[in-house]
Amino acid sequence: MKVPSVKGFHDVLPGESGRWAGLESAARTVFTQYNFDEVRLPIVERAELFRRSVGETTDIVEKEMYAFDDRDGTPLTLRPEGTASVVRAYVEHAMHAAEPVAKLFYFGPMFRRERPQKGRLRQFSQIGAELIGRDDAAADAEVLLLLYDLLADFAVDGAEVLINSLGDRTCRPGYRDALVAWGRAHLSELCPDCHRRLEQNPLRLLDCKQPACGALRARVPPPRMLDHLCEPCRDHFARVQELLAARNLHPRLAPYMVRGLDYYCRTAFEVVAHGLGAQNALGGGGRYDGLVKHLGGPDIGGVGFALGVERLAIVLAANQAAAPSAPEFVIAPLGAAAEVAGTVLAHRLRRAGLRLEVEPGERSLKSQMRHAGKLGARYVIILGEHELASGRITVRDMAARQDLPHVAGRGGGAAELRAAIAAAALAPPAAGLERHA
Ligand code: AMP
Repeated sequence: MKVPSVKGFHDVLPGESGRWAGLESAARTVFTQYNFDEVRLPIVERAELFRRSVGETTDIVEKEMYAFDDRDGTPLTLRPEGTASVVRAYVEHAMHAAEPVAKLFYFGPMFRRERPQKGRLRQFSQIGAELIGRDDAAADAEVLLLLYDLLADFAVDGAEVLINSLGDRTCRPGYRDALVAWGRAHLSELCPDCHRRLEQNPLRLLDCKQPACGALRARVPPPRMLDHLCEPCRDHFARVQELLAARNLHPRLAPYMVRGLDYYCRTAFEVVAHGLGAQNALGGGGRYDGLVKHLGGPDIGGVGFALGVERLAIVLAANQAAAPSAPEFVIAPLGAAAEVAGTVLAHRLRRAGLRLEVEPGERSLKSQMRHAGKLGARYVIILGEHELASGRITVRDMAARQDLPHVAGRGGGAAELRAAIAAAALAPPAAGLERHA
């Protein structure tokens, strides 16, 4: 009986997983250049963590968390996002005591019970970064530069960074009132959800996906946060843009972009990519002053972002084939004695750093060669009776369809084998071969 996977939970298969590993390793390089360190955090957290941070009235907390009670009754959840966990860890381990500024990155799965569609899964993976402990605009600019560098090094084409300011505790209440007044004036045209949002979380009026609400916003533009910023918020936002402009980067102003999580203030940003359809956000982030204190830490700010790996993979797959994954060498031993010699040689060569496959000795040469071709091997090392008797092995260059010059194979032949490999412009580390020769 087949047991299928769960809706919204996908396998990442070989080929595709190579693309993921490539993204992670490129990200690791850039994170290191920006002096960020990795954190690996648990997948299960207390549900309260996200209620307190992401917000009670957000879609994530209201309806998307995989929440459950532990046997002792503690309400737990699979984490729906990373920032709250990073901040929890920062506070829990009193990282600020030694050095208030923490620059942390993470990779890992997140869980949201959304309606699955292209680019929207119930388990998805994020690459995220958080710069905690700085309130200044240069920190926002640094995180945005890091984001731009990641997109460049991932070779994502045609992505655009959108930016907005969401104000702070001083100016947001005034804006909120203006938005509520706008909503009240158009109550009959708003969807039932927006009626509720108007009372609970009016900023969410701006990203309602209902066509009627969208049409209303197009016809009668709601007030913009940017026009309500207090002076410090205005200066902060201008400085972020100035620092980016100094590197010739000009994120597009998106005055109605509010993001779906409550903890953002001041700078908010999103990366959108064309060709992703409705789920066009590759990533997003922003500043979250107040969150660290709210979760029991000192009164310091933070800024960060997360990119969705599945969506990055979709964008990259559109213009780059998945990286082929193939052994460089296949050893084809003919018969039981050759299989022993093949096992020894394979072990030596693997320890010397080669990616290599060994065929079972009982198969015919023809079937071994066919299989080596199917695996995409560059070279096949043939070990037959003749090779065993003479102590020389045959290396077939599959691309050139010819044998390399004969080389010695068993005991003491590693140097010659290496020479043959070098001749094919594939020089493995010499030390490994010699050590095992
Ligand atoms: P958020 O934490 O909502 O700001 O999301 C950041 C990024 O994570 C998004 O821009 C997406 O790329 C990715 N993401 C969020 N939710 C999903 C999902 N359900 N499926 C796939 N990717 C997602």
